[in-house]
Order: sequence, then C-alpha cells, then structure tokens
Amino acid sequence: EAKSQGRDGVMIFNDELSIRVERKLEIERFLHFALENNEITLQYQPQLNSNSEVIGCEVLVRWHNEHLGQVGPDEFIPIAEQTGFIVELGYFILEEAFKTFSDWDKKGIYLEQLSINISMRQMFHNTFTDDVAKLCKKYLNPKLSSKLMFEMTETSVAEDITKLINTMNKIKQCGIRFSMDDFGTGYSSLSYLRQIPIDELKIDKSFIFELDDTSKSTNMVKTILNIAKNLNLSIVAEGVETQLQKEFLIEEKCDILQGYHFSKPVDKHEFEKYVQVIEVT
Ligand code: C2E
Ligand code: MG
Ligand code: MG
Ligand code: MG
Repeated sequence: EAKSQGRDGVMIFNDELSIRVERKLEIERFLHFALENNEITLQYQPQLNSNSEVIGCEVLVRWHNEHLGQVGPDEFIPIAEQTGFIVELGYFILEEAFKTFSDWDKKGIYLEQLSINISMRQMFHNTFTDDVAKLCKKYLNPKLSSKLMFEMTETSVAEDITKLINTMNKIKQCGIRFSMDDFGTGYSSLSYLRQIPIDELKIDKSFIFELDDTSKSTNMVKTILNIAKNLNLSIVAEGVETQLQKEFLIEEKCDILQGYHFSKPVDKHEFEKYVQVIEVT
C-alpha cells in the first residue's frame, strides 16, 4: 500500500526490509522450541544407479509449525546457523537418521549410502567429532557407519581449511565419507578438491535443470563428470526431473541419480514401500 500512496522507492524498500526482518525474528523465536514441540521430522529422497536400483537416499529435514505452517530448510537452516541452534538441531537429525538406518538394516533394507547434510557451523562445533563417534557406536555397526556420507556445501568451506581437514579426518576414522554438495555453485575453487578429503561430488541441480535446453550446461555437466572421474570421486546428479536428463546422465556415466523424476523426498514408511516396489519390478 506504500506504492498506492505514491511514496518513493526508499519507503517501499524499507517496508519490504522490515517484513523480512520480522519474518526472520519470528522463525528464530519459534525454531527455538521446534525440537521440544516435536515439530521437526525427516524425509528421505531415493538415490538410484543407472539400472534404476535404489542404492541410497538423502536425509532432508522438515519443519512444521502451527503458526508459520511448513517452513523450508532453505529458509530456516541459515537462521539456525546464525543463532547456533544448528548444533542441537544437527545432533537431533544425526540421531534420527542413524536410528532409521539401523531399523532399515534390521528389516533387510540394505543401502550403499545414507547421505546426511551437515552445516559448517555444526561441523566446527567442538563436540562434533565426539558426538558423531558416540552416535555411530550407539546405533550402527562399523559396516553401517562406513555407508554414511556427509554432504557439505562449498559456500563456507574457505574459512579455516586446516581445521576443516582435521575434522574431516577424525570423522573419516568412523568410516564416514564426504560429499561436496551443490558442486559448481559455491565460492570454492578446484584447489580445495585437491586439499580436502572428498569422496563424492554432487552436481548442483541448476546444471541439471538446464540440461534440456542449453548446450552450455551440457558441456558444463560433462566437464564436472570428467573432474570426478579424473580425481576418482563418485558422482551424484541431484534434481533429475525428466527422462531426457536421466538418459543424458546415464549415457555420460553418471553413477548416481536423484530427483523428482524418481521420487520426491518421502517419510520413512513411504521410502520402505518405494524400495520394495522398485525391487519387485
Ligand atoms: P540440498 O542438500 O542441495 O538438497 C537438495 C534439495 O533439492 C532438497 O530441497 C530437495 O528436496 C530438492 N530436490 C531434490 N530433487 C529435486 C528435483 O528433482 N527438483 C527440484 N526442484 N528440487 C529437488 P530441500 O529439502 O528443500 O532442502 C534445501 C536445502 O536445505 C538442502 O539442499 C540443504 O542445503 C538444506 N538442508 C536440508 N536438510 C538439511 C539438514 O538435515 N541439515 C542441513 N544442515 N541442511 C539441510
Ligand atoms: Mg544435500
Ligand atoms: Mg544439493
Ligand atoms: Mg542446496
């Protein structure tokens, strides 16, 4: 309504800014109680190989609040990182995911990998490596631990590379591997790939979306696949939505595919059904 009153652009900008600040504060306030109010759940998105067999899944956090409704992780994770709540939240996510993974193993659902997103702030917290080691010991046998993949994003990798490498190496002692999420979009350069002990690259979905219509991103994806091959890293394409994208990626020898074309993220029971349906057909 600022516009209709004929005010200037600065005013409109200020209105928008204050709405954004208010939204952020509200999220911050409610997020603080989200765990104790049981508002946080996990979903699982299947990852398939080129034979369309489910080989793993990515764990994705969900938050439903009675006042705010469903809030996406793209919105609340950065806020949780700023407030430090990510440490508590991250611990909860790890524990839930480990329990599920152990349940699946008991039910005869065997996966090659369970991918869990880890935020840098969580990883740099001083109890992180001990927490992970303890949780592994409590819920998983060594064979299951060695199927865990921690996904980290490039954006904040730069901060303290020595500390990062030390932390990663401690985590790797549990058998856990690391994936570089959203590869191709962050700040980091190829030199990080040489330095940090990464096992997998995850091509960002923006490249996959564009596969259908620009030859530029076709070349980009081919180049990323070559990097992975030359560095002996496994590779996942996220955001696969169409048959064309799938065919291109299989043709180009991309190991693992994930996206709405196969399945959206689903709760643990739906995932169990999905795996069984896939195995029968
Ligand atoms: P991400 O790790 O890159 O996860 C992939 C995102 O792409 C997910 O969004 C997923 O639902 C979405 N996606 C998968 N396939 C498709 C597709 O075919 N088309 C489209 N349009 N989207 C697809 P989501 O669940 O909203 O998560 C967003 C981001 O929030 C994640 O990006 C990750 O950075 C962060 N996040 C999610 N769960 C966690 C968590 O447990 N811990 C932390 N630290 N971050 C998380
Ligand atoms: Mg991820
Ligand atoms: Mg990603
Ligand atoms: Mg992302």
